[in-house]
Amino acid sequence: MPRTARLRPCAVARKLPRAMPTPPTNPALPLPVGAWRPDALVAALQVSGLRPMQARDAAKVLLNAYFRDNLDAEAALARVPPIQARHVAPLLAEARPLTQVESVVAADKTRRILWQTHDGLVIEGVVILADNGQRVTLCVSSQVGCGRRCAFCETGRLGLVRNLGADEIVGQFRRANRIWNDVRGALPAISNVVFMGMGEPLDNLDNVIDAIAVLTHDWAYGLSARKISVSTVGVAHKFAEFFARTQANLALSLNAPDDARRSQLMPVNQRVPMAELKSALLASLPRGRSVLVEYVLFAGLNDAPADAELLHAWLAGVPARLNLIPANPGPDPRLQSPVPAAVWAFQKQLLDAGVRVMVRYPHGRDVGGACGQLAGAHRRARGQTGEAHV
Ligand code: SF4
Repeated sequence: MPRTARLRPCAVARKLPRAMPTPPTNPALPLPVGAWRPDALVAALQVSGLRPMQARDAAKVLLNAYFRDNLDAEAALARVPPIQARHVAPLLAEARPLTQVESVVAADKTRRILWQTHDGLVIEGVVILADNGQRVTLCVSSQVGCGRRCAFCETGRLGLVRNLGADEIVGQFRRANRIWNDVRGALPAISNVVFMGMGEPLDNLDNVIDAIAVLTHDWAYGLSARKISVSTVGVAHKFAEFFARTQANLALSLNAPDDARRSQLMPVNQRVPMAELKSALLASLPRGRSVLVEYVLFAGLNDAPADAELLHAWLAGVPARLNLIPANPGPDPRLQSPVPAAVWAFQKQLLDAGVRVMVRYPHGRDVGGACGQLAGAHRRARGQTGEAHV
């Protein structure tokens, strides 16, 4: 939903007793509680007449209750002292909860979760165990569908339906975190988030930045920004803004060694060819920060020794780590993964050339939860909903 759209006031606002004086009109839009950046909420409460310490206390109580204690908006507001709650309630729009439709566990314990939004659309997230179960990452969606139409991606076939609000992005973490904490036993909690689900995050940058601000705030989940990665096809004109507004990592999905093949795989390259992409990246990347470059390997298309040389040349001068990703089955049957020996040979050639490179093996491929496979709408339309595990 566009950030500027008007939202209905939260039901709690309508239920508060009328005996107390009404706070002054606040210029801030009402937002669902899950969409409020903590600093913005404190500022809005001060505008509404609370003293700085009161505003801070009210926001902290509300957000702690909502995120950490998992209360719904109404119960969270009930934790705020009544005098302050009179100021908080008008700032809260109706919550837009995600309803879990499906939770499917793969053989490698990757869990793909499908949610329905308040307006009946479907999005997916994936809980991934990495490093032999030592690290747990949630892959979130930033849009319903995607307008970038990469040839290897199921989501791209959906087209863009709409952006997700910050509350709907954080809501995926809120819901997945709860499921995961119920079943994880001795395994670690979710500590990392990757924006590699449905959608191009830089096409929804304001809401993605707001969601990161919530995820990293101590009153919500207190994640480290360094443990959050945002993957882009290369929306070059947004790079500088991204680096200026967040300390989260940028992952650049490159996937080809030259313009002809990248344009074939990723239409974005027709507007921003690889040389321009590299220049934009180097011009905006702050000193001391680096990027993750992702390169999906397709048999016979981009995995030859000459392709490794071209890739090495493109990476020259870019502070980057490289992830090689053997292709997952996607919408185009011609795009297949190389055999393991070819993947290792490609990696070794780059290692020998001094590139920091690792292979990222797929997680959750058997339940359609791996990179390029998220397409809940298609899957449900085909009746392939899988076996549900809650
Ligand atoms: S790979 Fe990412 S940007 Fe490309 S179509 Fe899929 S979701 Fe969109």
